[in-house]
Amino acid sequence: MKHLLLPDYDFDTYKGVTPEFLKSIGKTCVLCDIDNTLVPYDVADPTDEVCLWVKSLIDGGIKLILVSNNEKERVELFNKKLNVPFMYKSGKPSRRTVKKAMSILNDDKKNAIMLGDQLLTDVITARVSGITSVWVPTIKKVETPFFRFKSAIEKPFIKYYYNKKNGENK
Ligand SMILES: [Mg+2]
Repeated sequence: MKHLLLPDYDFDTYKGVTPEFLKSIGKTCVLCDIDNTLVPYDVADPTDEVCLWVKSLIDGGIKLILVSNNEKERVELFNKKLNVPFMYKSGKPSRRTVKKAMSILNDDKKNAIMLGDQLLTDVITARVSGITSVWVPTIKKVETPFFRFKSAIEKPFIKYYYNKKNGENK
């Protein structure tokens, strides 16, 4: 059985998620976190690299939706340049989050992955919804007691995941 806190795939950055990768695993929809997955949590706008990545997915026939637990203003401002479907205060890790995202994309969850940096948010959301989980390391650590607590919980799972992955590759 798959563990709630372990992803199916990981990349060094979001750029690892390409149309080719998605097609290789039979997926066509990306539910994508923003903060610390695409840009540091304190950066308001997408970088040129993020814009190019989004364009490459869309040009490759992939549907993308931004799924963020952050405030409306942050998500709307971030999406200004990108102009893709989005959800703010998305309710991750609720199962309803994926349900709503798929209804916005008008697609089936069997075609979707969730991409994000938080095991306790993004990976669990994918798990409870039965969709594929892709994890990337946090870009910039948030130095608040709550996030330190979260990352202390995540640490052993990340270690276990890498150990398991490296073991399988040997
Ligand atoms: Mg995040």
